[in-house]
Amino acid sequence: MRRRDPSVAAGDGDGDEEPAVCPYCEGTNTEREHPKGPSLCRSIHFCEDCQEPFEAVG
Ligand SMILES: [Zn+2]
Repeated sequence: MRRRDPSVAAGDGDGDEEPAVCPYCEGTNTEREHPKGPSLCRSIHFCEDCQEPFEAVG
C-alpha cells in the first residue's frame, strides 16, 4: 500500500509552471503577463485562444 507524498507528486522544482486555466474557454493555452502595479497573490494571464487577459488567484 502506497502513500502519496504531495510534496513529490506536485512535481515542483522542475521549472515547469502549471498554466492557468482560461475562464472563457477553459483551455490552458495561456501565458503569464506582467502585472501593472502592486499585486499580492494575483497574476495576470493571457489566453492565446481567446486573445483575452484574465486574472488568476494564486
Ligand atoms: Zn481562452
